[in-house]
Amino acid sequence: MNLILMGLPGAGKGTQAEKINEKYNIPHISTGDMFRLAIKEGTDLGKKAKEYMDQGELVPDEVTIGIVRERLSKDDCSNGFLLDGFPRTIAQAEALQNLLKDMNQTIDFVLHVDVPEEKLVERLTGRRICPTCGATYHVLYNPPAKEGICDKDGSQLIQRDDDKAETVKKRLAVNIEQTKPLLDFYQDKGYLVTLNGDQQIDQVFEDIQSKIEG
Ligand SMILES: [Zn+2]
Repeated sequence: MNLILMGLPGAGKGTQAEKINEKYNIPHISTGDMFRLAIKEGTDLGKKAKEYMDQGELVPDEVTIGIVRERLSKDDCSNGFLLDGFPRTIAQAEALQNLLKDMNQTIDFVLHVDVPEEKLVERLTGRRICPTCGATYHVLYNPPAKEGICDKDGSQLIQRDDDKAETVKKRLAVNIEQTKPLLDFYQDKGYLVTLNGDQQIDQVFEDIQSKIEG
């Protein structure tokens, strides 16, 4: 089964990816892992990618798609794959269509874990960190015993700048803008499955199973 996982930061993609990986025995392939592996293995494409990354530049699509091809050709993809973080653009999505066609394969489903923006803001701004011991909390999901205070050492918890509402909203806006054309692309192709991600983790996974097992 060939799957693509989509969703905004905070939508819970990582958790669902783990569950899909366990249940269907297909590898969870994130873009970062894919690049790291190619670089570690020292493939020609990995070396090229590293040159761009070392210079702080974006890796061009032809290099990226080559790395995707290498990765999808590995033995662990014999049952299929779960792509996460790729494709990011329409050009990449079209390149992936061609690549899969070459491999006599196709995408089965594009799973979109959909969570309302205001819920994502709630999830993403709730993190609190202890400046003394580094423990992390979440005001909703993992609160300390006493509000604002570290359980371990009594320090005053802080909120990182990255987790502040304004920053989070900006990050989401950028992501929404990038993702929209891709969702439309896959909708047009008939691959898109939209899941209500504003539910318990296990319920979201049950929905995924019932969709893909039809
Ligand atoms: Zn602490």
